[in-house]
Amino acid sequence: MTVDPYMRGRMVDRASYVPPFQLGEPLQGGAIGEVVASDDPRLKRGDLVSTIFGWRESFNAPAANLQKLETFGLPPQAFLGVAGMPGLTAWVGLLKIAALKPGDVVFVSAAAGAVGSVVCQIAKIKGHTVIGSAGGADKGAFLKEIGVDHVIDYKAAGNLAEAVLRAVPNGLDVYFDNVGGAHLEAALTAANRFARFALCGMISQYNVAGMPAGPRNIMLAVGKSIRLEGFIVSNHFNLLPEFQKDMSGWIREGKLRWKETVEHGIENAPTAFLKLFTGENLGKMLVKLT
Ligand code: NDP
Repeated sequence: MTVDPYMRGRMVDRASYVPPFQLGEPLQGGAIGEVVASDDPRLKRGDLVSTIFGWRESFNAPAANLQKLETFGLPPQAFLGVAGMPGLTAWVGLLKIAALKPGDVVFVSAAAGAVGSVVCQIAKIKGHTVIGSAGGADKGAFLKEIGVDHVIDYKAAGNLAEAVLRAVPNGLDVYFDNVGGAHLEAALTAANRFARFALCGMISQYNVAGMPAGPRNIMLAVGKSIRLEGFIVSNHFNLLPEFQKDMSGWIREGKLRWKETVEHGIENAPTAFLKLFTGENLGKMLVKLT
């Protein structure tokens, strides 16, 4: 099963694009499972299925509520990461929302995570200069391995805006925001005129009590004619076939790599979830159920 940052929003009792989790109910979310018994001819024992039933080790469900999974030779759990929702998020955000175009300099935050690491690699595949921000030396080393041109360890960088400016002396054209707060402010400072910002997530703000952080310098968006556009991946599921065609090609050609951090046992699912907020995951955070 997967744990994802958006689940944090579902733990608050408020109206949103996805309803809050209900007290006394198991938490929902993506998972890949194996059919152990079936009365329905559409599924047989041993079939792999993709589900949104989430945080549970076993369940009964109508076959119509399960998606039979064809893995095309990939490990099944890749469909919770690079070949699934986070991969599509990266692809949509970079290519459709930010509308990447030749010569763009691209800055990515949470760059070593599930979404960010795919964003960096798509931008590299398309020939761009990429600056990735992530916390810690291990993440930095991974980003170098996947071809990121400038790595910023934001936890060690001191003044983040200055670190971004040093990395992009000629400014940035695209910012893929996974973090919000100080990262978004730094990106606004370093942005060129007509830059495009894909606002994917703002994880630095999800646990903030009270008013979330700025950007205090949002006024720069006016003078620089910056386009800031938020998006939710589920509004773009119609693009899945186009994404899958690109992604399967890149994986087959060895152009796209990924990492997973795996906790074992459902009893460790809360730990896995919390690690997203302390940055203890490299690549996709998963829980292997027994
Ligand atoms: P990641 O695999 O990137 O894991 C989260 C990472 O966020 C951590 O590893 C950590 O990396 C970083 N992080 C956590 N807290 C902070 C902080 N205070 N400041 C800076 N970085 C922090 O998760 P995902 O790839 O699944 O998600 C990335 C972002 O994309 C999230 O904001 C998520 O909400 C968003 N998202 C949006 C979707 C949409 O439809 N719009 C769909 C899917 C995801 P580090 O060690 O570098 O700090």
